[in-house]
Amino acid sequence: MSKALIIGAGGVGSVVTQKCASAPEAFAEIMLASRTLDKCEKIKALTGRPIRTARVDADRSAEVVALIRDFAPDVVINVALPYQDLAIMDACLETGVDYLDTANYEPPDEAKFCYKWQWDYHERFRKRGVMAVLGCGFDPGVTNIFCAHALKHHFDAIRTIDIRDCNAGDHGRAFATNFNPEINIREITQRGKYWERGRWRETDPLAVHETFDFPEVGPKEAYLLYHEELESLVKHIPGLERIRFWMTFGQQYLTHLRVLENVGMTRIDPVRFEGHDIVPIKFLKALLPDPASLAAGYKGKTCIGCWIEGVKDGRPRAYSVYNVCDHAACYREVGAQAISYTTGVPAMIGALLMVTGAWRGAGVFNVEQLDPDPFMEKLPVYGLPWRERVS
Ligand code: NDP
Repeated sequence: MSKALIIGAGGVGSVVTQKCASAPEAFAEIMLASRTLDKCEKIKALTGRPIRTARVDADRSAEVVALIRDFAPDVVINVALPYQDLAIMDACLETGVDYLDTANYEPPDEAKFCYKWQWDYHERFRKRGVMAVLGCGFDPGVTNIFCAHALKHHFDAIRTIDIRDCNAGDHGRAFATNFNPEINIREITQRGKYWERGRWRETDPLAVHETFDFPEVGPKEAYLLYHEELESLVKHIPGLERIRFWMTFGQQYLTHLRVLENVGMTRIDPVRFEGHDIVPIKFLKALLPDPASLAAGYKGKTCIGCWIEGVKDGRPRAYSVYNVCDHAACYREVGAQAISYTTGVPAMIGALLMVTGAWRGAGVFNVEQLDPDPFMEKLPVYGLPWRERVS
């Protein structure tokens, strides 16, 4: 029985907290801390358990250290924003507590996410005997574990991986993002990038697309994007010849995005306005719907998975593994939409495997470096069933 400190009371934080609260055999005590205490209290009310709440500015490592010393958790689950990753990792190092997150660090003033900053902590975590698990949401997260599972059970060698993320849901709003708008728009407006025959190849943003027939969802237009799990999978899946990431978008979403970009509303540098410095994308975030608020009335399904080719017993093999998640079912269970749900459940499972000793290690790990079996077994137990097809 252990204690979990969850940082970040947003859409994902709400799911993680409710799911941890539903497993008292693993998480005897829970603390939820965030920048706005009121949001923690609202989530606490959903759990029906006497969890603790606290206000913290996780950009300030000293505040996180004080919180950890007060609560003495076994694991810190970081579901605030990527900007806080390093400050929270510093606090875990100082206090000797395990760490897990769902998104890799990116500096606030540069739209550039990569693992280098967090991988650089490996030696310090190793020497301290502390474990950090990076990117344990759905993508990254489950998609990485799907690849590790495929390599362990279905292939002698993997040649190509296509990760496909389809949200075929409809929230009824003209334009909204399904997770933090600032992080989401920064990711999508970057140049596309994929790995092929030993090197990274770049494309213009959203320039490459194809129609793909998603199981249980049907044909959708999917766009090639650079996504963070590509960086770690290239490193950890031996002999990989190509890996790409695809995400679906509707035409209405793309039209809004194009207009917002064209008029400068997605800029991340400050603009002087009536005597104040304003960062346009932060102002845009204030105007757009809170992703958690999309949950009521959200209809339709997500389908996210990996389509993999390689060799087994000397013969070519094609294999796919995916999850289909229904927005309305997530709302009925935890009052969340499927994007928050599919991110929060894996974060909770990862933390559960750490505190129960199924995942152990000293240093900084991406999830595909850990045993996929206990994770794959827990996915359907906590709400994310998966299917696989071999041909
Ligand atoms: P939200 O914006 O809904 O929630 C983020 C929360 O973090 C907010 O409650 C916010 O507080 C809090 N926060 C922000 N800054 C600080 C700070 N300095 N100190 C303390 N708390 C802070 O985002 P989501 O819940 O949608 O996303 C959470 C994380 O999950 C993000 O990092 C996102 O990138 C990641 N994600 C990962 C996915 C995956 O599959 N791997 C998919 C989707 C999301 P306040 O409300 O006061 O602003």
